[in-house]
Amino acid sequence: MLNKANEPINYEEDLKSTSRAIKCGNLYVGGNNKITVQSMLNTKLSDIERSIEQVQLLELNGCDIIRASVDTVEDAKAISIIKKHTEMPVVADIQFDYKMALHALKNGADAIRINPCYIGSEENAASVINECKINNIPIRVGVNSGSVKKEFLDKYNGVNKLSLVESALEQVRIVEKYNYENIAISIKASDVKMTYDANVELKKRTDYPIHLGITESGSDEDGIIKSSMGLGSLLLMGIGDTIRVSLTEEPLREVIIGRKILQYLGLRPYGIEIVSCPTCGRTKVDLINIVRDVKRAIAPIKKDIKIAIMGCAVNGPGEAREADIGIASGNGEALLFKKGQIITKVKESEIINVLLEEIDKL
Ligand code: SF4
Repeated sequence: MLNKANEPINYEEDLKSTSRAIKCGNLYVGGNNKITVQSMLNTKLSDIERSIEQVQLLELNGCDIIRASVDTVEDAKAISIIKKHTEMPVVADIQFDYKMALHALKNGADAIRINPCYIGSEENAASVINECKINNIPIRVGVNSGSVKKEFLDKYNGVNKLSLVESALEQVRIVEKYNYENIAISIKASDVKMTYDANVELKKRTDYPIHLGITESGSDEDGIIKSSMGLGSLLLMGIGDTIRVSLTEEPLREVIIGRKILQYLGLRPYGIEIVSCPTCGRTKVDLINIVRDVKRAIAPIKKDIKIAIMGCAVNGPGEAREADIGIASGNGEALLFKKGQIITKVKESEIINVLLEEIDKL
């Protein structure tokens, strides 16, 4: 529901308020439900074999919701086949051609991403909205910094939080006009601060669930840092119900980074967390390689625990005690801690094996 224009806004209360929940396939987005991680297939959806392979890989690695471009009738038809191979809700991403949305809905899409202002006449939008109503299928609307309408650019002097928010709310109002409120909203910019400002403003103006992302954030550390800062700062304020990390990389990486953002904010557990020190002149074991090898070895382990791998007796014992399992290294050896207690002393060459054995016992 949008706050009425001119209605006084209690900013602090509105920022703290919980969004409403919407149902997407077999899960809920918004409300007090867990924050979900999404990604988007980079296969052509109608390439069934490759699409199923990617869907399953992403699901196995913690993806909750998958989105795919639906540009042809064949893509739409693929939805019904792909859904037989995954538990994840499938969101059909529609650009311009509203008929593809209708085809996607006919083939079991769990949500539609569409912008009613960009699919021709309002009649087109109405036909999609009415079709969504039949099975209570959510519609994600929103705006990217590259697609703000000229009218809003002129009114608000370019791309900024106000033109982004107004542009997104214009889409919302069209859906609401047809008495439908099963909506999620996204506002994404490639600029971190602008995304932050716009989503804070959006949260003040609506209780619809918010899909967060930094669009076109790049690859590697650029994309990871931008996404972590943008999504992290908003999530810490309680803003955001579902996230997508957009990277110029394979979708698997987006899912892994998205999971880690939620994990390190304490919002969702996702397996083993390693705390390790940066090393310094006091480090007397090959800590960098020990951490690298442990990280590789624990990658498939799905236990929600914390392990500490520390280089010396200064901060080592403290961190190691806080973790479920930890080591505080000395000169060619290390103390092993478990649940805060020293349990043994091990040689440097045994650190990795002993750690793995102890993780296995938990
Ligand atoms: S824990 Fe010890 S070895 Fe590691 S960085 Fe700190 S002082 Fe250096």
